[in-house]
Amino acid sequence: MLQIVWFKRDLRTADHGPLTLAARHGPVLPLYIIEPELWQQPDMSGRQWAFLREALQELRVDLADLGQPLVLRRGDALTVLRELLATRPIGAVWSHVETGNAWTFARDRRVAELLRRHGIPWHELRQHGIVRGRIDRDRWSQQWEALMAQPLFEAPRLARLARGIDAGALPDVPVDTLPVDPCPGRQHGGRSVAEQALYSFLQVRGERYHQEMSGPATAFASCSRLSAHLACGALSLREVVQATRRQRDKVAQRNGAPPGTWARALSAFEGRLHWHCHFMQKFESEPRIEFENLQRATVGLRDTAPDATRLGAWMRGETGWPLVDACMRALDHTGWINFRMRAMLTSVASYQLWLHWREPGLHLARRFTDYEPGIHWPQLQMQSGTTGINTLRIYNPAKQSLDHDPHGRFIRTWVPQLTNVPDRWIHTPWRMPVDLQRRCGMRIDRDYPSPLVDHEAAARLARRYIQEARRGDAARDESRRIQQRHGSRRRGRRQSAVPSHQRNLFDDGR
Ligand SMILES: Cc1cc2nc3c(=O)[nH]c(=O)nc-3n(C[C@H](O)[C@H](O)[C@H](O)COP(=O)(O)OP(=O)(O)OC[C@H]3O[C@@H](n4cnc5c(N)ncnc54)[C@H](O)[C@@H]3O)c2cc1C
Repeated sequence: MLQIVWFKRDLRTADHGPLTLAARHGPVLPLYIIEPELWQQPDMSGRQWAFLREALQELRVDLADLGQPLVLRRGDALTVLRELLATRPIGAVWSHVETGNAWTFARDRRVAELLRRHGIPWHELRQHGIVRGRIDRDRWSQQWEALMAQPLFEAPRLARLARGIDAGALPDVPVDTLPVDPCPGRQHGGRSVAEQALYSFLQVRGERYHQEMSGPATAFASCSRLSAHLACGALSLREVVQATRRQRDKVAQRNGAPPGTWARALSAFEGRLHWHCHFMQKFESEPRIEFENLQRATVGLRDTAPDATRLGAWMRGETGWPLVDACMRALDHTGWINFRMRAMLTSVASYQLWLHWREPGLHLARRFTDYEPGIHWPQLQMQSGTTGINTLRIYNPAKQSLDHDPHGRFIRTWVPQLTNVPDRWIHTPWRMPVDLQRRCGMRIDRDYPSPLVDHEAAARLARRYIQEARRGDAARDESRRIQQRHGSRRRGRRQSAVPSHQRNLFDDGR
């Protein structure tokens, strides 16, 4: 009987368990459903669609090469599946478990109910090292290792389906109301670009990864840039982990001891691949953190209705802190910014501007081509101080600027109003004497704003508010609960001997 392989965020044929296993049970109908309602959710955007569309185009060709091209349908998943069930006998539905947003989770529940009613099994396989249902956090790392060590699934030969199934068209947009979202510097999507990115990173670009990942300018080339490919599943995490380990072994043979730059870079990179699932597991286990503070004692700390002036200035890259504005504008143009700068953007919104994380989080989600709910929302909360258990990181924008863009090259690329400002003032242009401003051909508060707030005073106040919210027995009990449920376990052991205030339970380390 016909086996439906429902492609979701796993747009590849290599190491695709559902595809390989389904093909062993019968002819395969590879299906992708373009869901208009999904694309109307506030975290979705045109750049994400454009990237995904390119990946779909390539998947279609790859599946055709295996024997059966992708079948595309646009509409509500339940309606699409119901129609397919009505036209022919279906043996089973196969897919990967999706750790998506609240909308996709609710949709999956409805689909599960539909298939149950029709008596059709739905085989959901793990595509990352994330576990659905009750988990044993103490053994989580071991099961992650075990999954990553398993052999890759080989792409199967597919039997061409008999006539009667229209392949369907790939539309330009998933829904007409999706706002136009120009992103001229965006990465391209698709398996072949993803493979090239992986190869070029492991062979060439990644050598100074650990040294250059934090600089906003250097990170564009020195980071792997695999996030968007992982988010749409053009690569499996296991493929990336195994390729990295092969490269690590080669490097070890080449370098001998002591370990060279490559060895350090690859080790740092491998750690991040682990974090990918570590963060997504938190989200899988406690999905309410898409909407609510993880640490309940911090609920109500910030207004959920944000100050529109501050939020607007932050979103447009007009805060008056040059590095913050340069990052936001670079992100707008390219759809990507490195980890450190994402953390800084969030920290500035949450602490200095005292905005609730939800609206800034939605804005960043839409701007990220690599939007991955399972990483995004736990990171947003961590950088906003609402996990209740992490060390507070209130970034000083001027210091970040001095540390990571000392000569202001990145700033001048993205904030042209500051092109002629000398190095000495590029991080704090609002302090520049007026006659110098004139000589530089610009005026503060006419051509470029002064900071929205005073960093020192705002940061002090923010720290006090957060610390007050974290005090008290209820807050401490809640922190213990969070640690028990989500805390990382080094080398598979509990960390309960370490006092909670000394631990960074999100294991960030940067
Ligand atoms: C506020 C905020 C929001 C974020 N939102 C997202 C998001 O929506 N999607 C996303 O993929 N990443 C997100 N990140 C994590 C991180 O910034 C990106 O994964 C990374 O910058 C992507 O670039 P890269 O692939 O070149 O990363 P590399 O540094 O080359 O890392 C390789 C891979 O490891 C994983 N990884 C790296 N850093 C982290 C991290 N800190 N936490 C979890 N996984 C990590 C990613 O899968 C990444 O692709 C967010 C970070 C912050 C602070």
